[in-house]
Amino acid sequence: QKSAEFSIAKTIRDVSTLLDPVLRRYQAKLVVDSNADDDVVRLPEGELKQVLFNLIRNAVQASEPHSIVEIGVECNDSEVKLAVSDEGCGIEDSVLQHIFEPFFTTKSELKEGMGLGLSVSRNLVEGMNGSLSVKSRVGQGSTFTVTLPRRIEES
Ligand code: ADP
Ligand code: MG
Repeated sequence: QKSAEFSIAKTIRDVSTLLDPVLRRYQAKLVVDSNADDDVVRLPEGELKQVLFNLIRNAVQASEPHSIVEIGVECNDSEVKLAVSDEGCGIEDSVLQHIFEPFFTTKSELKEGMGLGLSVSRNLVEGMNGSLSVKSRVGQGSTFTVTLPRRIEES
Protein backbone atom coordinates (compact mmCIF):
# COMPACT_ATOMS: atom_id res chain seq x y z
CA GLN A 1 0.00 0.00 0.00
CA LYS A 2 1.21 3.50 -0.83
CA SER A 3 1.89 6.10 1.79
CA ALA A 4 -0.48 9.01 2.11
CA GLU A 5 -0.69 12.07 4.30
CA PHE A 6 -3.31 11.97 7.02
CA SER A 7 -3.82 13.12 10.57
CA ILE A 8 -3.41 10.63 13.40
CA ALA A 9 -6.51 12.02 15.08
CA LYS A 10 -8.67 11.17 12.08
CA THR A 11 -7.24 7.66 11.84
CA ILE A 12 -8.05 7.01 15.48
CA ARG A 13 -11.59 8.29 14.93
CA ASP A 14 -12.02 5.97 11.93
CA VAL A 15 -10.75 2.96 13.84
CA SER A 16 -12.99 3.64 16.82
CA THR A 17 -15.95 3.84 14.47
CA LEU A 18 -15.03 0.43 13.06
CA LEU A 19 -14.75 -0.90 16.59
CA ASP A 20 -18.02 0.57 17.76
CA PRO A 21 -19.85 -2.80 17.96
CA VAL A 22 -17.01 -4.28 20.01
CA LEU A 23 -16.85 -1.25 22.29
CA ARG A 24 -20.58 -1.45 22.87
CA ARG A 25 -20.58 -5.18 23.52
CA TYR A 26 -17.89 -4.73 26.20
CA GLN A 27 -19.27 -1.37 27.31
CA ALA A 28 -15.73 -0.10 26.99
CA LYS A 29 -14.66 3.47 26.51
CA LEU A 30 -11.76 4.72 24.41
CA VAL A 31 -9.86 7.71 25.69
CA VAL A 32 -7.27 9.44 23.55
CA ASP A 33 -4.37 11.27 25.12
CA SER A 34 -2.56 13.00 22.31
CA ASN A 35 -0.04 15.74 21.71
CA ALA A 36 -0.62 15.29 17.99
CA ASP A 37 -4.21 16.12 17.18
CA ASP A 38 -3.34 18.19 14.14
CA ASP A 39 -0.12 16.44 13.24
CA VAL A 40 0.10 14.84 9.86
CA VAL A 41 2.00 11.67 9.13
CA ARG A 42 2.88 10.04 5.83
CA LEU A 43 2.35 6.29 6.14
CA PRO A 44 0.30 3.46 4.62
CA GLU A 45 -2.93 4.38 6.38
CA GLY A 46 -4.80 1.11 5.87
CA GLU A 47 -1.99 -0.82 7.47
CA LEU A 48 -1.80 1.49 10.46
CA LYS A 49 -5.57 1.15 10.87
CA GLN A 50 -5.32 -2.65 10.87
CA VAL A 51 -2.67 -2.50 13.58
CA LEU A 52 -4.64 -0.12 15.79
CA PHE A 53 -7.81 -2.14 15.24
CA ASN A 54 -6.10 -5.33 16.41
CA LEU A 55 -4.47 -3.74 19.43
CA ILE A 56 -7.59 -1.92 20.60
CA ARG A 57 -9.79 -4.98 20.11
CA ASN A 58 -7.38 -7.08 22.17
CA ALA A 59 -7.31 -4.41 24.87
CA VAL A 60 -11.09 -4.28 25.05
CA GLN A 61 -11.41 -8.07 25.12
CA ALA A 62 -8.93 -8.25 28.00
CA SER A 63 -10.87 -5.72 30.06
CA GLU A 64 -13.76 -5.95 32.46
CA PRO A 65 -17.01 -4.30 31.34
CA HIS A 66 -17.04 -0.50 31.72
CA SER A 67 -13.27 -0.27 31.45
CA ILE A 68 -11.27 2.43 29.77
CA VAL A 69 -8.77 1.74 27.02
CA GLU A 70 -6.36 4.59 26.51
CA ILE A 71 -4.60 5.50 23.31
CA GLY A 72 -1.59 7.67 23.89
CA VAL A 73 -0.13 9.51 20.93
CA GLU A 74 3.23 11.23 20.85
CA CYS A 75 4.55 12.77 17.72
CA ASN A 76 7.83 14.53 17.04
CA ASP A 77 9.57 15.57 13.83
CA SER A 78 10.76 12.09 12.95
CA GLU A 79 8.64 9.60 14.89
CA VAL A 80 5.13 8.83 15.98
CA LYS A 81 4.43 6.64 18.98
CA LEU A 82 1.04 5.08 19.63
CA ALA A 83 0.45 3.29 22.93
CA VAL A 84 -2.69 1.24 23.56
CA SER A 85 -3.16 0.64 27.29
CA ASP A 86 -5.72 -1.42 29.12
CA GLU A 87 -6.39 -2.14 32.77
CA GLY A 88 -7.31 -5.72 32.00
CA CYS A 89 -6.07 -9.11 33.05
CA GLY A 90 -2.46 -8.63 32.04
CA ILE A 91 -0.31 -11.34 30.47
CA GLU A 92 1.59 -14.09 32.32
CA ASP A 93 5.26 -14.46 31.36
CA SER A 94 4.65 -17.95 30.01
CA VAL A 95 2.03 -16.53 27.63
CA LEU A 96 3.91 -13.34 26.85
CA GLN A 97 6.72 -15.32 25.17
CA HIS A 98 4.28 -16.56 22.54
CA ILE A 99 1.84 -13.77 21.81
CA PHE A 100 3.52 -12.64 18.58
CA GLU A 101 3.52 -16.14 17.11
CA PRO A 102 1.02 -16.81 14.31
CA PHE A 103 -2.08 -18.74 15.48
CA PHE A 104 -1.19 -18.39 19.16
CA THR A 105 -4.34 -17.57 21.11
CA THR A 106 -5.70 -18.03 24.61
CA LYS A 107 -9.22 -17.11 23.51
CA SER A 108 -12.17 -19.38 23.04
CA GLU A 109 -13.84 -19.55 19.65
CA LEU A 110 -16.59 -17.45 21.19
CA LYS A 111 -14.28 -14.46 21.23
CA GLU A 112 -13.27 -15.27 17.68
CA GLY A 113 -9.62 -15.53 18.56
CA MET A 114 -7.64 -16.73 15.54
CA GLY A 115 -4.32 -15.84 17.10
CA LEU A 116 -3.24 -13.79 14.11
CA GLY A 117 -3.77 -10.22 15.28
CA LEU A 118 -0.42 -9.62 16.92
CA SER A 119 1.75 -11.52 14.45
CA VAL A 120 0.12 -9.72 11.55
CA SER A 121 0.38 -6.41 13.39
CA ARG A 122 4.06 -6.85 14.14
CA ASN A 123 4.73 -7.76 10.49
CA LEU A 124 2.84 -4.69 9.29
CA VAL A 125 4.66 -2.41 11.72
CA GLU A 126 8.07 -3.80 10.79
CA GLY A 127 7.11 -3.42 7.14
CA MET A 128 6.73 0.30 7.92
CA ASN A 129 10.22 0.31 9.48
CA GLY A 130 8.76 0.52 12.96
CA SER A 131 8.54 -1.63 16.04
CA LEU A 132 5.79 -3.11 18.21
CA SER A 133 6.51 -3.83 21.86
CA VAL A 134 4.55 -4.80 24.95
CA LYS A 135 4.68 -4.22 28.68
CA SER A 136 2.31 -6.10 30.89
CA ARG A 137 1.64 -6.78 34.55
CA VAL A 138 -0.63 -9.58 35.58
CA GLY A 139 -3.76 -8.21 37.22
CA GLN A 140 -2.89 -4.63 36.27
CA GLY A 141 -3.00 -4.45 32.52
CA SER A 142 -0.97 -4.17 29.37
CA THR A 143 0.44 -1.53 27.08
CA PHE A 144 1.25 -2.23 23.44
CA THR A 145 3.42 0.46 21.87
CA VAL A 146 3.83 1.07 18.16
CA THR A 147 6.75 3.26 17.14
CA LEU A 148 6.88 4.39 13.52
CA PRO A 149 8.80 6.82 11.41
CA ARG A 150 6.60 9.82 10.86
CA ARG A 151 7.03 9.68 7.11
CA ILE A 152 7.78 6.84 4.76
CA GLU A 153 7.52 7.31 1.02
CA GLU A 154 6.56 3.76 0.05
CA SER A 155 5.81 0.57 1.92
P1 ADP B 1 -6.25 -13.33 19.31
O1 ADP B 1 -6.73 -11.98 19.73
O2 ADP B 1 -6.99 -13.83 18.11
O3 ADP B 1 -6.17 -14.33 20.41
P2 ADP B 1 -3.69 -12.00 19.00
O4 ADP B 1 -2.51 -12.31 18.15
O5 ADP B 1 -4.35 -10.69 18.79
O6 ADP B 1 -4.73 -13.18 18.78
O7 ADP B 1 -3.29 -12.13 20.52
C1 ADP B 1 -2.65 -13.32 20.96
C2 ADP B 1 -2.84 -13.52 22.45
O8 ADP B 1 -2.16 -12.49 23.16
C3 ADP B 1 -4.27 -13.43 22.94
O9 ADP B 1 -4.97 -14.63 22.77
C4 ADP B 1 -4.08 -13.08 24.42
O10 ADP B 1 -3.73 -14.23 25.15
C5 ADP B 1 -2.84 -12.20 24.38
N1 ADP B 1 -3.15 -10.76 24.41
C6 ADP B 1 -3.09 -9.91 23.37
N2 ADP B 1 -3.41 -8.65 23.75
C7 ADP B 1 -3.70 -8.72 25.06
C8 ADP B 1 -4.11 -7.76 26.06
N3 ADP B 1 -4.28 -6.46 25.76
N4 ADP B 1 -4.30 -8.20 27.34
C9 ADP B 1 -4.11 -9.49 27.65
N5 ADP B 1 -3.74 -10.45 26.78
C10 ADP B 1 -3.54 -10.07 25.50
MG1 MG C 1 -6.45 -10.24 18.65
